[in-house]
Amino acid sequence: MEGIVTGSIDYTTFSENNATKINVLGTEYLIFKGISAEENEYLKDCDGYCDFYARKIVLGNFTKENGYEHGDLEYYERKVLRHEIIHAFLHESGLHDLAIDEKIVEWIAIQFPKINQMFEELEIQK
Ligand SMILES: [Zn+2]
Repeated sequence: MEGIVTGSIDYTTFSENNATKINVLGTEYLIFKGISAEENEYLKDCDGYCDFYARKIVLGNFTKENGYEHGDLEYYERKVLRHEIIHAFLHESGLHDLAIDEKIVEWIAIQFPKINQMFEELEIQK
């Protein structure tokens, strides 16, 4: 489950040293991984979220100790991150309605690798 943040969250306790910077259509976002629900209350209700206003993507701490039963937790983290990055791209494109549409975001996140693979096979990716 993933979420979107519409309010302001306090990130002052987050160390940017552990963050990954990404450039989303000219706007810098920071990705934070392995954040517990104790560190960030918002993660009690979701496994990750994209904060358009603070320009941050925050992923939960996907460990068995935290109750995650998925077989491949690294795969699960990548899956959640792909989803949150799609949220950011749609938002930074100005497509604000689509950026909060979980159905289209998840569709793109799932289908994009398949579309990209086809583009590569056909050598039409650029
Ligand atoms: Zn989402």
